[in-house]
Amino acid sequence: MSLLTFLITAGPTQEPLDPVRYLSNYSSGKMGYALARAAIKKGHKVILVSGPTSLSPPPGVKLIAVKTGLEMYRAVLKHFRKADVIIKTAAVADYRPEKILRQKIKKTGKPLFLKLIPNPDILKELGKKKRKNQLLVGFAAETQNGLHHARKKLMGKNCDWIVLNDVGKRGIGFGSDRNEVILIPRNGKPVPLRKASKEKIASQILKHLLKSQGHAH
Ligand code: C5P
Repeated sequence: MSLLTFLITAGPTQEPLDPVRYLSNYSSGKMGYALARAAIKKGHKVILVSGPTSLSPPPGVKLIAVKTGLEMYRAVLKHFRKADVIIKTAAVADYRPEKILRQKIKKTGKPLFLKLIPNPDILKELGKKKRKNQLLVGFAAETQNGLHHARKKLMGKNCDWIVLNDVGKRGIGFGSDRNEVILIPRNGKPVPLRKASKEKIASQILKHLLKSQGHAH
């Protein structure tokens, strides 16, 4: 079996506002860590760039811990050249506060307006930079019109696959131990994966990705 290098991102990002507050989301990191574990189990090399989670990294992975979207951007760009497969599971914050205040924001009883500025879209950037033999896989967490939005992402971010996650459904997705996804290849038919543990979904995703590349998995 040929050994591949996987670059996997996982978890949320935290975007600081002041010394004691941040903006973030409900991503647990479980799906990305399960993918990392599945790849390690098959003997591949894994670089895991992770936002803050309560999970222990699977033994054998090279863990790069980050907090913010900008830190994740820098870590991913630093390592992506050596990766054969890049899987962007992380729920990167789309926006960050324009300013990080040095002192805690005091309450005044009046409305408070925060100015947010866009974070770089890491996946889109990789789509521009990727080599022909690199497989780029994005995740799409959607609450409605999933297939439509996921296909748009697939083309707009120049990915090879998008994993569609319906986060509007109960009992799957963010924070849950189970998931149900649809794998959407750039060329070819979508592959639905039935509700199962994130571990099982991860090994199925891996199997399909590697099969598409002509690798034994
Ligand atoms: O556009 P949207 O955020 O829904 O796309 C989700 C995909 O894009 C995920 O794979 C996520 O990791 C990636 N992404 C990213 N950088 C961002 C936002 C999303 O890499 N700033």
